[in-house]
Amino acid sequence: MNLNFKTSRGESRLNKHLVEQQKLSEEDVRKIQGLHCEKDALYDQIEESGDPSILKEIEEVEFKLQDAWKFPRDVMYHRHWEVPGCSCPRLDSIDDYPYAKHYSGGCPLHGKKIHEL
Ligand SMILES: [Zn+2]
Repeated sequence: MNLNFKTSRGESRLNKHLVEQQKLSEEDVRKIQGLHCEKDALYDQIEESGDPSILKEIEEVEFKLQDAWKFPRDVMYHRHWEVPGCSCPRLDSIDDYPYAKHYSGGCPLHGKKIHEL
């Protein structure tokens, strides 16, 4: 099965080891690739508009990706710092992934989130 695919943001490839571990079918793989295309289209939109309301749609696609990968839905596995325009502490988030998320009050996308926590 072909694990390589292309989205609006470039070429990508699903992790072969993970695909085998999760015993994914060709249909599962195609579904995941389609969801990555959706997510990247949303990344394009948020990059262009800077509209934080798109985060909700991105989160929904992240959850669908977890479903498709047969993983539990868990927001701690969403890489919020990869959203274009995010200025949250990237290295801290990578270090503590998936146990803690680091947000910056100055982030134009997630800054408001701090007040919601
Ligand atoms: Zn951010």
